[in-house]
Amino acid sequence: MNAIVTQIIQVSPIMKIFRVAPDGWELPDFISGQFASLALPASSERVADATPDYEEYEADKLIKRVYSVASSSKSKEFVEFYISLVRSGALTPRLFNLQIGDRIELGKKMVGMFTLEQVPEDNNVVLVATGTGVAPYVSMLRSNILGGGSRKIAVIHGAANSWDLGYSSELMLLENLSDRFTYLPTIIDVDNEHVRWNGDTRFVQDMWADGVVEKAWGVKPTPENTHIFLCGNPKMVESMFEMLEKDKFVEHKRKQPGQIHIESWG
Ligand SMILES: Cc1cc2nc3c(=O)[nH]c(=O)nc-3n(C[C@H](O)[C@H](O)[C@H](O)COP(=O)(O)OP(=O)(O)OC[C@H]3O[C@@H](n4cnc5c(N)ncnc54)[C@H](O)[C@@H]3O)c2cc1C
Repeated sequence: MNAIVTQIIQVSPIMKIFRVAPDGWELPDFISGQFASLALPASSERVADATPDYEEYEADKLIKRVYSVASSSKSKEFVEFYISLVRSGALTPRLFNLQIGDRIELGKKMVGMFTLEQVPEDNNVVLVATGTGVAPYVSMLRSNILGGGSRKIAVIHGAANSWDLGYSSELMLLENLSDRFTYLPTIIDVDNEHVRWNGDTRFVQDMWADGVVEKAWGVKPTPENTHIFLCGNPKMVESMFEMLEKDKFVEHKRKQPGQIHIESWG
């Protein structure tokens, strides 16, 4: 295996941030928003609270899945991933059993179209995520997509509980540093909170429908001035997409440029 786990941050009981460093090779150039593969042999142990494998594997079979990169495209030392545990899954129970210093297979190519490459520099950007879907946006922000111009950026991040809002400290810091950046977190499982949550409790699609971005920016996001990125839960992606289409936003495709960019993990 060609890489080493150099840092693990436990965000919540089922969410971890992993830093993975290449061992003896150079990370390729990539564009923020792209993803890479991680793989472990089936012989590696599953974390204790996972359910058993749903199929049998040869011990040396590599189990591979793809994950959005959360680190800056400028970082050449390591790649960072924000991953949630699927207790019944094949790879994540093995990932969650890893310790710092353990080896892992990291794909040598990062790919994907979920990037800002086709977004005009003067267009505003709304980044909508549920759960670990915030990872590609963290990479974009760390790679300085705010830039020096007048572009406004908003992150709408939905999670079950406050402790599931990974990277919230970094996003709050950025909001304090820039009046062109807005962070709009929301949680839906309020009854489970240990202390009172005074923030938003709506679904991200309901926040959008209520015009949270327009209120924050003082400018209505339209297809002419804004690109929208959707990442994470397929249900959220679907209902956001339906609403945006009604407002004349169009899905971005290779041959047909549009303003809605989608990375659905379903
Ligand atoms: C472009 C992209 C980027 C992504 N980025 C991220 C990221 O940044 N962070 C993140 O957390 N995730 C990300 N994902 C999701 C990730 O790739 C995996 O799908 C996820 O981690 C689950 O992997 P797993 O091997 O643990 O589960 P899987 O083995 O893939 O299983 C998923 C579910 O399906 C069930 N299942 C699958 N096959 C069977 C079967 N044959 N029989 C019975 N049940 C079955 C499992 O029990 C489980 O409930 C991304 C996905 C894509 C496509």
